[in-house]
Amino acid sequence: MPLLSVENLDVFYGDFHAVHGVTLSVEEGQTVAIIGSNGAGKSTLLQAITGLNTDKRGNVRFAGTHIARMRADLIARQGITMVPEGRRLFGSLTVEDNLLVGGSTDRNGPWTLKAVYDLFPRLGELHRMQASTLSGGQQQMVAIGRALMTNPRLLLCDEISLGLAPKIIGDIYRCFDVIRESGVSIVIIEQNVAQACHASQHIYCLLEGRVSLEGDPRTLSMKDITAAYFGTEHRP
Ligand code: ATP
Repeated sequence: MPLLSVENLDVFYGDFHAVHGVTLSVEEGQTVAIIGSNGAGKSTLLQAITGLNTDKRGNVRFAGTHIARMRADLIARQGITMVPEGRRLFGSLTVEDNLLVGGSTDRNGPWTLKAVYDLFPRLGELHRMQASTLSGGQQQMVAIGRALMTNPRLLLCDEISLGLAPKIIGDIYRCFDVIRESGVSIVIIEQNVAQACHASQHIYCLLEGRVSLEGDPRTLSMKDITAAYFGTEHRP
């Protein structure tokens, strides 16, 4: 049984139908990437899974529990945590206090302050600094660390590499192996297709709210991915 299974999910903003009949699954221990151009519905899909978007139809099951009609706080308690686009840190709080916000949930597990500082040693050095004074990459580490402090079973990451230098993106993605080894499954939304293919075992491409392609990135051709991403036919 997959850890997460989404079946025929439709999501609406008033009259606007943003996500159409999306079906996807995440196996335990997997990293799954969702790719697609601006406005394809990626963030809407993740928000619907976490209960932030309530106007939806379809089924979402997490570890066997139906969560599509559950409140966002109860879904979080099941073990789904989002690293939101734009990080949304508490800028006036220190690094450590931001991390402790994540640690205030009642879920237990391997992710403690020490474990986060072992993963991101730079955050240990900066633990007394105000979050707003950190670089973009350091802030992203805090956002990931704060999410890990909730001891999730599934981590949803919305565009974590946006605006960061390639070296920093590489450093952050390298930590994902450690996170998965700790028993956390991961979903990433990633604009950088090569990065998404490299970091994941399965990708879903969204086009205008629908899944236009899915599969193991090692077996999909870049031609097919590009066609699914932009909605263009490719001719042999
Ligand atoms: P991006 O990469 O730009 O974040 P995305 O793939 O995450 O894009 P969404 O943000 O999920 O796309 O948006 C999907 C569609 O829903 C877009 O057409 C967008 O304009 C629309 N949309 C998103 N949020 C709202 C909202 N709060 N109210 C109305 N329409 C919205």
